[in-house]
Amino acid sequence: MIVAIDGPAATGKSTSAKLVAQKLGFTYMDTGAMYRCITLSVLRNRIELEDEKALKLLIQEMDIRFEKTNGTLVVRLNEEDVSTLIRKPEVTSYVSAVSALPQVREHMVNLQRQIAKDQDCVMEGRDIGTIVFPKAEYKFFLIADDTVRAKRRQLDLQAIGENKTIDELVEEIRRRDAFDSGRFHSPLRKADDAIEVDTSKLTIDEQVDFMVNRVKNH
Ligand code: C5P
Repeated sequence: MIVAIDGPAATGKSTSAKLVAQKLGFTYMDTGAMYRCITLSVLRNRIELEDEKALKLLIQEMDIRFEKTNGTLVVRLNEEDVSTLIRKPEVTSYVSAVSALPQVREHMVNLQRQIAKDQDCVMEGRDIGTIVFPKAEYKFFLIADDTVRAKRRQLDLQAIGENKTIDELVEEIRRRDAFDSGRFHSPLRKADDAIEVDTSKLTIDEQVDFMVNRVKNH
């Protein structure tokens, strides 16, 4: 069974999706982390986004894994723990451009379908309910007020030693959402049959309970 949780940046997807997965006993998949991994590789290898050959090679050599260690999720890129690095501002500001490339999307979507083939998954992203699993049994689309989102992102960044103002973050979040929604391939969009959840005034527990109850009661 697939539970798809999509929505714009910093709407509480990761935190709540992780807990929803835990409560249902499903595997949690953070597809944004996968796009962040390839972005980190592109930046490190100074690959031009127009260079399709180099990109293809990079994708072929990339091994992304999620590992649970002491209750926290570790993201490994070719064995290296990149969990913190992929959240750095350099990656965040470039990830939308990399994610818009058809070659990148095709590879990631295949990989996501492959991973979810034999297991129940809570999958979090932008296009899970529309493109990756249009027939997902449950689809949620999370939204939240811009300032609330910026405050959440500020706390996430502080946890990895980065400081940005609320104004900077509101602008950054809006820019990223505009790019993600405006791209040609798999734009960020609510699936027609997704349930919209406004998390602005909800606690994490409330968001999680809402989604878990919905799944359990059907
Ligand atoms: O969820 P997160 O903010 O980590 O996602 C980072 C970026 O990855 C998004 O802004 C978007 O460009 C891209 N992404 C995507 N499709 C997904 C998940 C993330 O294009 N399913």
